[in-house]
Amino acid sequence: MKFDWLPVTRFEQNCSILWCEATRKAAAIDPGGDIDQIRDFLEWEELELEVVLVTHGHFDHAGGAAALAAATGARIEGPHQGDQHLIERLAEQGKRYGVRAEAYTPARWLADGDQIHFGQETLQVLHCPGHTRGHVAYFHAASRSAFVGDILFRHAIGAWEHGDGDLVQLVESIRNKLFALGDDVRFLPGHGETSNFGHERAANPFVGDEALAQWWPPGSRGSPPKRPADLPF
Ligand SMILES: [Zn+2]
Ligand SMILES: [Zn+2]
Repeated sequence: MKFDWLPVTRFEQNCSILWCEATRKAAAIDPGGDIDQIRDFLEWEELELEVVLVTHGHFDHAGGAAALAAATGARIEGPHQGDQHLIERLAEQGKRYGVRAEAYTPARWLADGDQIHFGQETLQVLHCPGHTRGHVAYFHAASRSAFVGDILFRHAIGAWEHGDGDLVQLVESIRNKLFALGDDVRFLPGHGETSNFGHERAANPFVGDEALAQWWPPGSRGSPPKRPADLPF
């Protein structure tokens, strides 16, 4: 499997394109917008889009899923049904930020342990609530790559200070689901640079081993550090 990514929307959300080299069939994760750029990429690489995958219901990730599926004939899968209320209000979410976003009904709401197939490739689904209730991550075991949306960033974690967020769940998702995949796993977050779980376990100021010992569980000894202001959602 190969993958690449392009930043979409003014929030520079990382839309990733994964493809099976044997069949040129592809999956697009989080086509939040800028659908023409995504289609140009597919055409340039001579890929056939088989499935559109969504990590969670925020418009910068999910807003262009319906349009991309309609333009290519691909099916949409995900996220987990816990985000259905966000997916249904995508147009409303987008309007607040002057972005076109469209609701959709996926071919399948995803659950922890589900598998996604495109070409000859397989992805594993991990349900990782905390940033939103229905957030999922996608793991490609053969290449040790994970696509984690807004759960974990290089040196930061996703926002939890909103109605759908939950700090305890977020940290448990990161530690028990993502870090459990192994230190060598490289991940692409929804915003910013790639990293690997081993680096975040050592150096992440929120959920690294040493950082966590300073404040976990919340309320016992202190509170987590402030999230960087330049990280939306
Ligand atoms: Zn985002
Ligand atoms: Zn988000």
